[in-house]
Amino acid sequence: RSFSSTSSNNTGVLPPRYETLYNKYSEVRRVLGSQRLTLAEKILYSHLDNVEESLLSNTNGGRDIRGKANLKLKPDRVNMQDASAQMALLQFMTCNLPQPVIPASIHCDHLIVGSKGADEDLKAGIATNNEVFDFLESAGKKYGIDFWPPGAGIIHQTVLENYAVPGLMMLGTDSHSPNAGGLTTITIGVGGADAVEALVGAPWELKAPKILGVRLTGKLNDWVSAKDVILHLTGRLTVRGGTGYIVEYFGPGVETLSLPGMATACNMGAEIGATTSIFPFTEASSRYLKATNREQADKDAKNFENFSKGSGQDSFFKFKADEGAQYDELIEIDLSKLEPHINGPFTPDLSIPLSEFKKTVQEQKWPEKLSAGLIGSCTNSSYEDMTRCESIVKAAEQAGIKPAADFYITPGSEGIRATLERDNTLQTFEKAGGIVLSNACGPCIGQWKRQDDIPKGTPNAILTSYNRNFRGRNDGNLETMNFLASPEIVTAMAYAGSTTFNPITDSLTTPDGKEFKFPTPKGLEGPETPFEAGREVFQVQSGTPNPNVEVAISPSSERLALLEPFETFPDSDLSGLRVLVKVTGKCTTDTISAAGPWLKYKGHLPNISENTLNTAVNAATGEVNVAYDLDGSKHTIPELAKQWKQRGQPWLVVAEHNYGEGSAREHAALQPRYLGARIIVTKSFARIHETNLKKQGVVPLTFANENDYDLIDAGDEVATVGLYEMLKNGGQGEVSLRVTKKDTGKVVEIKTKHAVSKDQAGFILAGSALNLLAKGN
Ligand code: SF4
Repeated sequence: RSFSSTSSNNTGVLPPRYETLYNKYSEVRRVLGSQRLTLAEKILYSHLDNVEESLLSNTNGGRDIRGKANLKLKPDRVNMQDASAQMALLQFMTCNLPQPVIPASIHCDHLIVGSKGADEDLKAGIATNNEVFDFLESAGKKYGIDFWPPGAGIIHQTVLENYAVPGLMMLGTDSHSPNAGGLTTITIGVGGADAVEALVGAPWELKAPKILGVRLTGKLNDWVSAKDVILHLTGRLTVRGGTGYIVEYFGPGVETLSLPGMATACNMGAEIGATTSIFPFTEASSRYLKATNREQADKDAKNFENFSKGSGQDSFFKFKADEGAQYDELIEIDLSKLEPHINGPFTPDLSIPLSEFKKTVQEQKWPEKLSAGLIGSCTNSSYEDMTRCESIVKAAEQAGIKPAADFYITPGSEGIRATLERDNTLQTFEKAGGIVLSNACGPCIGQWKRQDDIPKGTPNAILTSYNRNFRGRNDGNLETMNFLASPEIVTAMAYAGSTTFNPITDSLTTPDGKEFKFPTPKGLEGPETPFEAGREVFQVQSGTPNPNVEVAISPSSERLALLEPFETFPDSDLSGLRVLVKVTGKCTTDTISAAGPWLKYKGHLPNISENTLNTAVNAATGEVNVAYDLDGSKHTIPELAKQWKQRGQPWLVVAEHNYGEGSAREHAALQPRYLGARIIVTKSFARIHETNLKKQGVVPLTFANENDYDLIDAGDEVATVGLYEMLKNGGQGEVSLRVTKKDTGKVVEIKTKHAVSKDQAGFILAGSALNLLAKGN
């Protein structure tokens, strides 16, 4: 069939992406027949490199592949933020290709410190990071990758506004990339090595996810927002509950949500460890595409549905689940019964309904003074979010009340900033004393120089509309209790300056002694006229690749260093390894490779490795960032790792559950590998991190019996049994550890489990995925 629209209302030829999607989907249908599919499956399976091989790899095909088959996928594009793009591009450069085989973009958002306000902070940020931005810009020009300069916006907001269209599959080198699932894409957060695979055209491998259906009914009440859906869900599922799942929202309640609201819920799916999250294409999606000046994309999506309908029932691709599609798990949420939630501190799954928050604060003896309220970020800076906050600010202004806590606003992109400026929303915030930060991550990722100068170690409470709240994440102060809420709750509570204030039930007192109660927040889903593009200097630089451009890296740079390939796996099992440190408690990617001030070394592996595991808790002593050498001498963990690297002493780490939770940060895998780690043994891993380890040639093993964690300690000598054989057999076979106790010389055998696929076994044997890819080019 000619690939043109059959709709009576719309005409025209559909773009090539939909032709590919249609052809692949037809193949999926040929293999699966009339089996009912979820929306996530339709899009995901239509991006398989080899549909038949993947879908039939688990005998019965279809639903039975979930959680079992290894899918080999061909994503449509790759989006990279500046911190992770450095390593991704350094890796891409070693593959010697003239340009990526799929479109890609670079977003300069993570390196700007938020402090005094957008203009000043941006100038300072550019001066400090010029070298890195020059590198990224020159690499963008050389390889024809879109370059969004500092100040242009935060990756997920920019992607949502510019690149996300229904039916796409994207990879993003950031764990909150699933934000774009709000616009009916499959977007997965990955490390740089995965991004490089997609950029060079190698199929990208993913264990077929299970599907967790979230059926929404009802309609949100006045003070409740889509953020509360995910804050509530995070509490129900915990930080590990979504591991191995795609979260797919459906049901009548979906139709009541705004598009940015859906994106917010998808964004924070990362907090439950989900592979990604997705919403169907709704009228709100259509309105958002038009508001962001993409009327054609809206027409294309609708025409595509109509086109596929014309080809018969089996190939009818609607951007929602088939009637009767099965979910592996099902959760129902009645939006009408949901109340605002506040999650934290220190973990996003400690979810507390607003009505119980005051009691909890008092019982837990958390600080009652709120020192700062921060709204915006990639999670919550939509027009709707900001205008709802504006209505609260205006009401307080009229009553003569100012925020009692510091109040910061981070627009997600230049587009949203310029639109909010045009419509006077930002001016309202500033008039109230709010500080508008640059269109960048800032305090969300530890890039925050606080105005109140609270000394490190001082307990204090802050409330943000961000997505993540690990200890120390925002200001580097381990005693800052960081709570997450919707922007409207953050704003109202910033006015009260109190963690015990409930804006729905409580009142403030105006300067003239009157009682003031906040009105219910009211905002506009989108601007009445389409979004502004904003200032010229913040527009994207795109172009054709130019091989004559020199990629800018100074040999004396402290920020950037070309990569040396890692050594290959020996032709035998590993022996003579020592346990560098046995870690207890949470060990997130922030623990393994801290952000904040370390972000500046993202492109310099030796320098950033100085932070390796520097907030990990030693299981034997309870000390933070302490490891003991075999002679009993005390060191920081990275110091000892460096010494062992110099001595040629390979090592391993022992840890507890969900090791590597949090982000796609591949440095958390690269650094231990660079310093000499060969295996990591844990009670369980976070998905992205486990994959990242294998890509860098580190073997992730889990205890077959988790109590065996107690049998192995720091300093013990370890040899693997069966590991080499397993790798040679493409991931088939069992691996155990022979542990010789440091103190007694006693030998214990510990059984382990692994999830090494055939391809991953190849990476590990080659030394890293990159070694293998570089060989292929
Ligand atoms: Fe930036 Fe924070 Fe969003 Fe990550 S979660 S992209 S650090 S704003």
